[in-house]
Amino acid sequence: MNAKISQKQLAEDHLLEAAKEFQKCMQCGKCRSVCPVFKEFGNELFVARGKNKLAEKIVSGDLQITQRVEDAINECLNCKTCSANCPAGVSPEHVVLRLRWYITTQKGLHFFKALIFRQLLWRKWPITLGCAVVAIAQRVLFGIGPKNPVRHLFPLFGFAKRRNFPELAIRSAQSQLPEVSPPKKGPRKARIGYFTGCAGNLIYTNVAKSVVDVLTGYGYEVVIPKKQKCNGTPVLANGDYEGAKKLMQYNFDLFQKYDLDAIVVACSSCGMSLKKEIKVFVDDSPELREFTGKVFDINEFIEKNIEFKPEELGRIPYKITYHDPCHMVRGQGVKDQPREILKRIPGVEFKEMKNADTCCGSAGSYCITHYETSIKINNHKVKDIQDADVDLVATACPTCVMHINDNLAQHESKETSKFVIEILADSLRAAKTI
Ligand code: SF4
Ligand code: SF4
Repeated sequence: MNAKISQKQLAEDHLLEAAKEFQKCMQCGKCRSVCPVFKEFGNELFVARGKNKLAEKIVSGDLQITQRVEDAINECLNCKTCSANCPAGVSPEHVVLRLRWYITTQKGLHFFKALIFRQLLWRKWPITLGCAVVAIAQRVLFGIGPKNPVRHLFPLFGFAKRRNFPELAIRSAQSQLPEVSPPKKGPRKARIGYFTGCAGNLIYTNVAKSVVDVLTGYGYEVVIPKKQKCNGTPVLANGDYEGAKKLMQYNFDLFQKYDLDAIVVACSSCGMSLKKEIKVFVDDSPELREFTGKVFDINEFIEKNIEFKPEELGRIPYKITYHDPCHMVRGQGVKDQPREILKRIPGVEFKEMKNADTCCGSAGSYCITHYETSIKINNHKVKDIQDADVDLVATACPTCVMHINDNLAQHESKETSKFVIEILADSLRAAKTI
């Protein structure tokens, strides 16, 4: 009985919060010129203006949730380009998220989503073991290149045959790195918590090692709470408000136990989630405000706190451009810091590409559920990268790296994508500073 009442209350809250946003919409249509999904389809239902109208009709009871309505609501990257350009200050992506959460209160959560978000994400070992098995198979049995015969099986799992997956880690970063890494030199400057995120833990372990090496090399103690779980972004984006709430509360409570001076992340979505989205899910308190105030993207933290002497940086002789992840530039307002780090590295020829801050189409799980559209959006990014005439595309988000590298390989393009922190760590290692 109580559960039913709370679901009803939850549904009303979601509609109320959506209404607070869409009521500000003047229907001016400016979002039509910036929305990446609208640019591909030209469908009014897929742009912010159309979604606001859709939400209004749902709230007034004039529109039922049909498959067509649900599909329209799912056609959104949460790239925040519309809100960044909206003259009325509407955040249409919040309308979209509230509608997705509302639909779950009406229809329940899909069995597979419930299994992943409410069971698997809470039990680390099956995921770690599963990744290790796939990682070994990738190396021993079939490799990851375009001639990989196992590609023919991808469609069985809902993946496009031409898709290029990154290599998973045989050993997760959290199993390779200690929970507490002391500073390598000098007295301890501060105690820094590191939220590795799932991708930093299971795929891009070199990023996790680079974060720890750079920070400990410059006098910081790094703590990786080993019981940390997913930050909740893919969960909330897929309509599971309650699952995301549990994960956010769990990670907040866990990190509170460690007496940390700051918390760093090397994933734009984890950063946005721990700085901002958590406020929707965890009750406001002085502790929450203190927590969100001490979360930093690793590039932001380094630019604010570490000064590199010229002799500490080794030469990286590459032409490099930078792609702004949506959840970094619009989600957190971090734009200059990664560029400044790259420009400081000797040998780097930094070249700004066109449309550096437009969405690459990855958008977390969107590039799994809407692969063909996400690749069409990414084709524009690949063209801008090629036009910039560079060797490397630096960025700060695992799904951007994954998606850009996938499509660059499909275009047989010479460039690859890497994290800024990896490039910086390579430079410091080359000079034997860390
Ligand atoms: S969301 Fe903003 S930009 Fe789009 S139609 Fe409404 S007011 Fe105009
Ligand atoms: S968040 Fe991005 S994809 Fe979604 S409606 Fe706005 S501009 Fe379009």
